[in-house]
Amino acid sequence: MPNRYFIADVHLSSTRPTTLALWQRFIQNGPQTGDSLYILGDLFDIWVGDDDDAPLAEQVRHTLRQLTQRGVTLGIQRGNRDFMLGTTFARQIGATLLPDQQVLQVAGLPTLLLHGDQLCTDDHAYQKARRCLRNPCLQWLLRHRSLAARRRIAATYRERSLASQSQRNLDELDAVTTTVLDYLQRYQVRQMIHGHTHRPAVHQHSLPHGQIAYRYVLDEWHPTHASVWVDDGARLYCNRLS
Ligand code: MN
Repeated sequence: MPNRYFIADVHLSSTRPTTLALWQRFIQNGPQTGDSLYILGDLFDIWVGDDDDAPLAEQVRHTLRQLTQRGVTLGIQRGNRDFMLGTTFARQIGATLLPDQQVLQVAGLPTLLLHGDQLCTDDHAYQKARRCLRNPCLQWLLRHRSLAARRRIAATYRERSLASQSQRNLDELDAVTTTVLDYLQRYQVRQMIHGHTHRPAVHQHSLPHGQIAYRYVLDEWHPTHASVWVDDGARLYCNRLS
């Protein structure tokens, strides 16, 4: 039975060469022919557009193209950092760009895959910014700026978001239980996998009629370690990499 791998929040950046090296080792040695890999958002720390020709972008394209060429199915979702990721990049690497919410059969159960930023609804300022940044008109305008201009905009956006986060109550940045229950209900699932909050855990949520839902939260990638959830067809387990 082929394996399915789930990762999120690798936050690849030219300033984090050790994380990049760890990730490349995983891509080269983890998923085998017939397996699938799902990247649930924020593969990149910043993505200015599918025409990005920076060395990091080229390197990642090359690594992922090799993965899909040896017969690994790759699905990728956008996160809050790489919301400009598009179908051109997906085509270049032989992947499928998945919608923000994707239901997939995992370990025998219909499972909702998502980045997780959608669940942090106590963060009103972010949710407002998200609606704006996901607006197709704004994305069209951004894509028609030069790469250099987009890199400048991205750097400013990142500085502002770091500055505002440092002043915030951390609980505001976590998933909100009522929103989680709302998504479980809306997609008719009892299992979800997401990243974004950087608080790896397996949460249990009580549903009506005594049912329990499971929420698997992926860890972000670090220079020396990372975690990957694996579905071997029957169960979902966490693999720690170093
Ligand atoms: Mn994120």
